[in-house]
Amino acid sequence: MVKFQLNDEEREELTAFLQDLVRIPSPPTQEGPLAERIVTEMERLGLRDVRVDRIGNVIGWVGADAGPVLMLNGHMDTVGVSNAEAWTHDPFGAQIEQDRLYGLGACDMKGGLAAMVYGARLLRRAGLPAGGRVVVACVVQEEPCEGLASRVLIEEEGVRPDGVLIAEPSDLQVARGQRGRIELQVTTYGRSAHASQPELGENAIYTAARLVFGLELLADQLAKDPFLGQGTLAVTDIQSEAGSRNAVPYRCDLIIDRRLTLGETEATALAEIQRTIAREGVHADVQVTEYTAASYTGYPCRAREFYPPWVIEEDHPLVAALVRATRAQLGRRPQVGYWNFSTEGAYTAGVAGIPTVGFGPGDPRQAHTVDESVSLKDVCSAAEVYARLAVELLTPDV
Ligand SMILES: [Zn+2]
Repeated sequence: MVKFQLNDEEREELTAFLQDLVRIPSPPTQEGPLAERIVTEMERLGLRDVRVDRIGNVIGWVGADAGPVLMLNGHMDTVGVSNAEAWTHDPFGAQIEQDRLYGLGACDMKGGLAAMVYGARLLRRAGLPAGGRVVVACVVQEEPCEGLASRVLIEEEGVRPDGVLIAEPSDLQVARGQRGRIELQVTTYGRSAHASQPELGENAIYTAARLVFGLELLADQLAKDPFLGQGTLAVTDIQSEAGSRNAVPYRCDLIIDRRLTLGETEATALAEIQRTIAREGVHADVQVTEYTAASYTGYPCRAREFYPPWVIEEDHPLVAALVRATRAQLGRRPQVGYWNFSTEGAYTAGVAGIPTVGFGPGDPRQAHTVDESVSLKDVCSAAEVYARLAVELLTPDV
């Protein structure tokens, strides 16, 4: 079996490419300039059928003309710069110190994007895989609505992968699942009155407060899974409505961030909240929130904010191939665990049922932090493991 290794020139090119990616801001719905840069690089490196799809994802192909498809999947968008004064590096400077490249999205997940593109580069140079195809998919709007862009790619653009590798940061370990997520809005209703005579009204904030206590108690009793652990519940926002500040509020909205463990569904999560409402005997309702936006290409995005959990068996051929590829390239057996955060896998595995596994450069604890950084050596290693994974799966006799 071939061992993949980026040569010195390719390592330099990869570094320059990653610096460009970090220097081009790409908040959700504004990924256009970054997409353009990726298209240029894919074409320069000889990927096939490079194009931008209707929602703004960039895809490019390598390998045979037909046969099974492995998708390398990563998102182009980043969160915003938080706590800008605390950064000691320019978030868009892509400064390099020894082996580390600093900047917004260096870890989550422009390092992964660069690794995917250069993994395809290695395959192209070797004329592999011969028994199937690899599609590199750089998707939009993962941060606000994970899975939306992959759904468009698979359901509307007709890209049909047989297996998916998510290149989110995993510190070069294997992730074979993640907890899911649902965002809920609970609304309490009251009756307005002049605040000088509150007894004539019914205060929607007081009703909401009773529910918040009920929800705090519920949070301790959520389902547990032996692998993914317990679900969680956090009230993350509260807003009331009243005619003025001297009126009793007639409405109060709570937002709940609910992380779902295996076995929990939209229906079970809603039913728990409805039971809490019934127990408190208050006038309130609960619904799943909706994400709406226009992508940078003008595609109208609309999705309920429900992202199911998923787990793939440890002995699944995709996981086994990734473990073999890591051992062969890096000389060590990777740990096999799960991600605490949500990814495009919520759609590919959780909705579409496509075998999915995770592996990427960068420490997940670096994501969304001040002075985010990634090891350049690890980005190169990830590229080499991706190439090897494709061969393990699609041309195992090489
Ligand atoms: Zn991410």
